[in-house]
Amino acid sequence: MAVKPGTPDTARLDRVVAEARRAREAREDGYRERALKIYPWVCGRCARTFDRSTVQQLTVHHRDHNHSNNPADGSNWELLCVYCHDNEHSRELERSRSGDVGGAAPDAQATHRPFADLKALLERKR
Ligand SMILES: [Zn+2]
Ligand SMILES: [Zn+2]
Repeated sequence: MAVKPGTPDTARLDRVVAEARRAREAREDGYRERALKIYPWVCGRCARTFDRSTVQQLTVHHRDHNHSNNPADGSNWELLCVYCHDNEHSRELERSRSGDVGGAAPDAQATHRPFADLKALLERKR
């Protein structure tokens, strides 16, 4: 029985790992690419602007912090520079540490649409 040297199973394993990594990157790039297409390349906090050479410092933040919530209209995305993004998440951490933990998402009120009332107001004016 001749076991061929030089054809170890690690080659197959490497390929599996590489494929998994590619799939994950494709998934992440999916919403990042879409967000960058929808929104101007400006940080939503510090208003820093980005171009092709600096865009890797611009990140896609999920407003409800749910990375699998990616509606096509981009309503759950916000473009933030890496610094502001960091800030945003440490604030969120502090908020949940200060006892505001419960079953309901704390952002549920924040994403409340202000225009719902506005429409009613406008109609009353007429
Ligand atoms: Zn920023
Ligand atoms: Zn984020």
